[in-house]
Amino acid sequence: MSSHLLSKSSFIRGVQCEKHLYLYKYHYNEMDKVSEMQEAVFKRGTDVGKLAQQLFPDGIDASPKSAFEYSKAIAETKELIQKKQKIIYEASFFFSEVLSIADIVVNESGTLEIFEVKSSVSISETYLQDAALQYWVISNSGYKIKDFSIIYINNQYVRNGNLELDELFKIESVLNLILPMQDWVQEKVNRFKEVLRKKTIPSIDIGEHCHNPYICSFFQYCRKHIPDNSVFDLSGLHLDKKYDLYRNGIIKLEDIPDDVKLPKSAGLQLDVYKSKRNIIDKIAIKDFLSGLNYPVYFMDFETFQPAVPMFDNSKPYMQIPFQYSVHYKKSKESIPEHFDFLAEAANDPRVKFIINLLKITKGKGDIITYNKTFEISRLKEIAETFPEYNDEIQDRISRIKDLMLPFQKKYYYTNDMKGSYSIKYVLPALIPDLSYENLTINEGGLASIKFESLFYETDLIRIACTRTNLLEYCKLDTFAMVKLLEKLESL
Ligand code: SF4
Repeated sequence: MSSHLLSKSSFIRGVQCEKHLYLYKYHYNEMDKVSEMQEAVFKRGTDVGKLAQQLFPDGIDASPKSAFEYSKAIAETKELIQKKQKIIYEASFFFSEVLSIADIVVNESGTLEIFEVKSSVSISETYLQDAALQYWVISNSGYKIKDFSIIYINNQYVRNGNLELDELFKIESVLNLILPMQDWVQEKVNRFKEVLRKKTIPSIDIGEHCHNPYICSFFQYCRKHIPDNSVFDLSGLHLDKKYDLYRNGIIKLEDIPDDVKLPKSAGLQLDVYKSKRNIIDKIAIKDFLSGLNYPVYFMDFETFQPAVPMFDNSKPYMQIPFQYSVHYKKSKESIPEHFDFLAEAANDPRVKFIINLLKITKGKGDIITYNKTFEISRLKEIAETFPEYNDEIQDRISRIKDLMLPFQKKYYYTNDMKGSYSIKYVLPALIPDLSYENLTINEGGLASIKFESLFYETDLIRIACTRTNLLEYCKLDTFAMVKLLEKLESL
């Protein structure tokens, strides 16, 4: 048996873009660096897959032991099926230079039922394409397939006590959807083999397809010719409009003709870029500031979203707050005081979090957040789950003001904000001495996966380091707000 030319993963890449398929096969080293966030997503997929195996206990794992042992794994799967092994995990099949590894196979005397596990909460078109390819490989390698299902996460499941796997997972047959796709799979496989046998990289330019269904793993590689301050940096402009400009040879911001119609925010961004004159609407800023009442509490939360609920009264992917930072200023002139809370990664952090937060924010004065929807939504969820705190939580919600507003409405806008009103752009633009760049944890998504990793970490030094980094990151979020408000007030 010759080695495989295509796999499930490369097939899906090929469906996205033939150049992606080619680069993945022959120029793997050019692939963009995999971020910690992406690694966490892969790990989550593996963990969910392992958990779903418990729906079909007592199976044998036939997964290849290394990237060089696919042939052995294919032979092992064949042997297990012949020996009437009922449940097989990670079963390998091969047909016409295509390798397919099925997550769970139920074998009834050679007739197979296939289950593919996904850590998402719905079935996407890509999952169907993936399933259709698997069906094509397995059925053509001589097996009768009774059914083909996708197992995915039921986002309405609420944990209470032990995990109920039958409730956590949904199992849906997709056989009727993938059978009509078999000719399409055959055509694609033929085409992809042709592409892979060529000596040159397919000549495909960047386009909307680079973003769909996933951001391509060669995104940076294919964009080396795009300069800074390009049409792709315009905020509020639809992707297809950006590519329309690009395809018309308009790449740099300064190349955009005056008669091109842009949404308000993108137009404003372009004006500031071209004129090099900042926008500072002092009247609107003064009006915003006059609505703030001292003392003020600058407040920020961090949350994590376990795919499999870890605590009672929580659902899959629910945002669980585990940390806050609060800076308190009694008056405009006073020096800010800092308070924070970071839960132990041991059990449900929500009750300790809310008790602590309510204590710190007791009393009068506005509570300032940056993008209040996030904090308000988390507070409402806690109030719903733990109604004994509802009255106090409603008081805190009624006092929340949003410091993002003057930047979102472009009362204050400079070219350095690059069209964004995220605090990650606004802060260095207005307070160049303060930046997230030097922090080990420098964005919320990373804070989330770092906290979740603490549940499994045993090395005390690593735990201490991560906790320090989390505290530093969240503290900067609220200190940044202190400085931004001071900057607005100084105007
Ligand atoms: S970045 Fe776009 S053009 Fe380049 S390989 Fe990926 S999908 Fe294809």
